[in-house]
Amino acid sequence: MEYTFAPHIPSVAIDGSEARFPVHRIYCIGRNYAEHAKEMGASVDRANPVFFCKPADAVVADGAQIAYPCGTSDLHHEVEMVVALHSGGSNLAAPDALRHVFGYGVGLDLTRRDLQAKAKEKGLPWDTAKAFDRSAPISALRPARKVGHPLRGSLELEVNGKLRQQADISDMIIGVPQIIQALSKLFELAAGDLIFTGTPAGVAALARGDWFKARLEGIAELHGAIV
Ligand code: MN
Repeated sequence: MEYTFAPHIPSVAIDGSEARFPVHRIYCIGRNYAEHAKEMGASVDRANPVFFCKPADAVVADGAQIAYPCGTSDLHHEVEMVVALHSGGSNLAAPDALRHVFGYGVGLDLTRRDLQAKAKEKGLPWDTAKAFDRSAPISALRPARKVGHPLRGSLELEVNGKLRQQADISDMIIGVPQIIQALSKLFELAAGDLIFTGTPAGVAALARGDWFKARLEGIAELHGAIV
């Protein structure tokens, strides 16, 4: 195969391995913790989850200094458990869904909240609010063959050493198998897909100079700074 220029393959580190996880797509679910839906003034519809996407190259490695994004004056953090797939398909059944999961990590769904508010008000797409450059910092992945499939565990975010968000992943409105099932009715899932599984309450602004530490208990940690 010959390309006109070198292709860029976005990837994520794998804990305990030299190999990297090549990212195919990034899917995100909205309103998956009741307290967060409430703080956003949004209703919850279990049967019709809200999905949106980020570009694969939005991933940012652990420990990065992230430039404050252009086009916003209200950058928000959303700490989320991230699910990584090593296989996929369409119309997957929830009871079989976990066999497609390669592993788990913790990430931030960085959001231009001001642009999202405008988009919601006008019924416009969320792309500029969600799918911007470097909007998906993510930890190294922990393979499921080592850590299993976590059903509970604390998900938390500290900013400048102060706790901003904390919940248990068992508080998710729809769980990982149901998310995979629902997504696979809309998209053909594939190896390399990442799924951000929603954020708990406590979303707030990040400013230049802030540093953050995200943690999914027993699974992963993510550090970074906004500069
Ligand atoms: Mn989110």
